Amino acid sequence: MQELTLSDVVVALAGLYPPATAASWDRVGLVTGDLAQPVRRIHLAVDATLAVIDEARAAGADLLVTHHPLLLRGVHSVATTTAKGASVTSLIVNDIALYVAHTNADVASPGVCDALAGALGLGRVRPLEEVDGVGVGRVGELPEPVSLRSFAELLSGALPATPAGIRVAGPAQARVQRVAVVGGAGDDMFDAVRASGADVYVTADLRHHPVLEAREEARGGTPYLIDAGHWASEWLWLASARDELWRVLGERGTTVELHISTLRTDPWDFVVGAEPGGTP
Ligand SMILES: [Zn+2]
Repeated sequence: MQELTLSDVVVALAGLYPPATAASWDRVGLVTGDLAQPVRRIHLAVDATLAVIDEARAAGADLLVTHHPLLLRGVHSVATTTAKGASVTSLIVNDIALYVAHTNADVASPGVCDALAGALGLGRVRPLEEVDGVGVGRVGELPEPVSLRSFAELLSGALPATPAGIRVAGPAQARVQRVAVVGGAGDDMFDAVRASGADVYVTADLRHHPVLEAREEARGGTPYLIDAGHWASEWLWLASARDELWRVLGERGTTVELHISTLRTDPWDFVVGAEPGGTP
């Protein structure tokens, strides 16, 4: 039985999610850890919150793989006086390596957007747009047209539940079949969505002005817009990453264990005042 080192797993991850395909502003790859350290348990999560790091420690993980970077901006201290510093300190003190696959996992195939497209049962899945030779976002077709409400319910059933739920802009009875998806914040992709002829666009972090302007531009028609929640729309990728990593590492006859975090790192806790079609 072969014992894996962090170096082996980093090579596997870089093969699945090549760091060169990450956006130029992004910070991906290994954040903490010694390449020679053994890896027996791998924990996967969307965010490296303090609770997730505690969960990884309790699970005996040697490596935490997350989608979002813990450190994206300049850092001059990792003292425990800040949450980021406490996170880095906890990782190092507990011998947990941290590896990030972010925008490189978004564009990978299979990656974050494929996981979303797959969960919705989309066929003929293709990139929404080509940027610098990599396919960003996905667009595909439902097997048959369904109402926008039925589609939103299908999406809700495919995603983990969150207190904020799913927000929909468009008439509930409108028919939709072509679906564009971008996991996480995708309000910079409206032109590509329109060009794809999508009936509905599923993404997250949709803000008032971009959404209102897009709905005005559509004159009430397609593309309808769905805000599925940032964490929920990316969470599906964890199972894909686990399976892909196991496919690559399993070939080596290793006994490495892979676990998906059971914690919800969506920061919202509850909503009040939601009323469909409500007037001021
Ligand atoms: Zn994200």
